[in-house]
Amino acid sequence: MTPSPQVVVVGGGQAGLAAGYYLRRAGLDFVILDAQTQPGGAWLHGWESLRLFSPARFSSLPGWLMPPYRDEWYPPASHVVDYLTAYEKRYELPVHRGVTVTAVESSADGFTVTADTGTWTAKAVISATGTWWRPFLPLVPGSFAGRQLHAVDYRGPGEFAGQRVVVVGGGNSGAQIAADLTGIAEVAWATRRAPRFLPDEVDGHVLFDIATRRRQALDRGAADPGGVAGLGDIVAVPPVRRARDAGALNARPMFTRLTPEGPLWPDGTTIEADVVIWCTGFRPELGHLAPLKLRSTGGHVRTEGTRALDVPGLHLVGYGDWTGPASATLIGVGRTARVAVADIAAQLLGG
Ligand SMILES: Cc1cc2nc3c(=O)[nH]c(=O)nc-3n(C[C@H](O)[C@H](O)[C@H](O)COP(=O)(O)OP(=O)(O)OC[C@H]3O[C@@H](n4cnc5c(N)ncnc54)[C@H](O)[C@@H]3O)c2cc1C
Repeated sequence: MTPSPQVVVVGGGQAGLAAGYYLRRAGLDFVILDAQTQPGGAWLHGWESLRLFSPARFSSLPGWLMPPYRDEWYPPASHVVDYLTAYEKRYELPVHRGVTVTAVESSADGFTVTADTGTWTAKAVISATGTWWRPFLPLVPGSFAGRQLHAVDYRGPGEFAGQRVVVVGGGNSGAQIAADLTGIAEVAWATRRAPRFLPDEVDGHVLFDIATRRRQALDRGAADPGGVAGLGDIVAVPPVRRARDAGALNARPMFTRLTPEGPLWPDGTTIEADVVIWCTGFRPELGHLAPLKLRSTGGHVRTEGTRALDVPGLHLVGYGDWTGPASATLIGVGRTARVAVADIAAQLLGG
């Protein structure tokens, strides 16, 4: 018989677990389906030196503070994996692992969710599949004879020792990887606009406060106080700060072409390179929602908060600010998940 919980959550990273926490509290019957065989979502991947840009206690999911990591302010990704593993156990969340959802379709009674291992039906679906699985590479004309990789495939500086590496991208990943390679490889850093370092005292916690104040002002109909974009893009975590202060993080503008030897700038400048590392971001992983033919706006699904405008009963949690302020962060996703579950509970329980 086809299992028929009231709600299916697709994705068991932090966003799926936060949704599970509120679904449990609402007394709803649900399952969480996750493609990976271990807890941790995207935090299982990433590079060796990857650190959270916020202290542990400001990186918590609803209900339980992330424990401190030794005496260090910014915990490593492995600490987040441990936390998510324990969180899932603590709240006895029904996560089915090694289950890749291939299609979510509307049915007379709600949704049919098809995975590689089986089929579920549900009245409501929360999609929480993240972005790590869809790295974005910009189209740059020309071809390069050396190695190219996206930040998702970067593990650490060791394999690039002595090589000429071009790091592309002015966000946190670009800055962290350029800093990581400093002193080990010969690094050139290319960014679309001059890198904007946030003030040293600003970390993810402050960013969350700013996003919250902005949301509250907009909800009240007050003037837009401006978001974090006005402050800068790059959190000056200690390794980035050290590399910046040593004068090692000097960006040049983005090149416009690749030649077999390396990048080429419009004024004819070239540099020879062995490797290009693209730290150019991600797109939402939404292939499983294709059968629903959701329309998009501004590069993402049309939503009001977490609710998909085109398909009643479908919610999206995580991904980016378009599902809620700071929804793609550990500290921010709880609020978005709470809103999604409140809406589903009102739909299913009438309260
Ligand atoms: C380099 C980097 C650094 C970051 N640093 C921070 C930070 O310091 N602090 C912070 O708060 N945030 C940070 N973030 C942002 C954010 O917290 C992470 O991206 C986080 O992993 C998002 O969680 P998620 O649950 O939305 O998605 P994910 O962690 O990607 O989890 C999604 C889960 O869904 C599964 N899945 C995907 N497709 C399917 C499918 N079709 N069927 C079943 N399962 C599926 C995946 O396998 C995965 O387990 C960072 C992001 C990046 C990329």
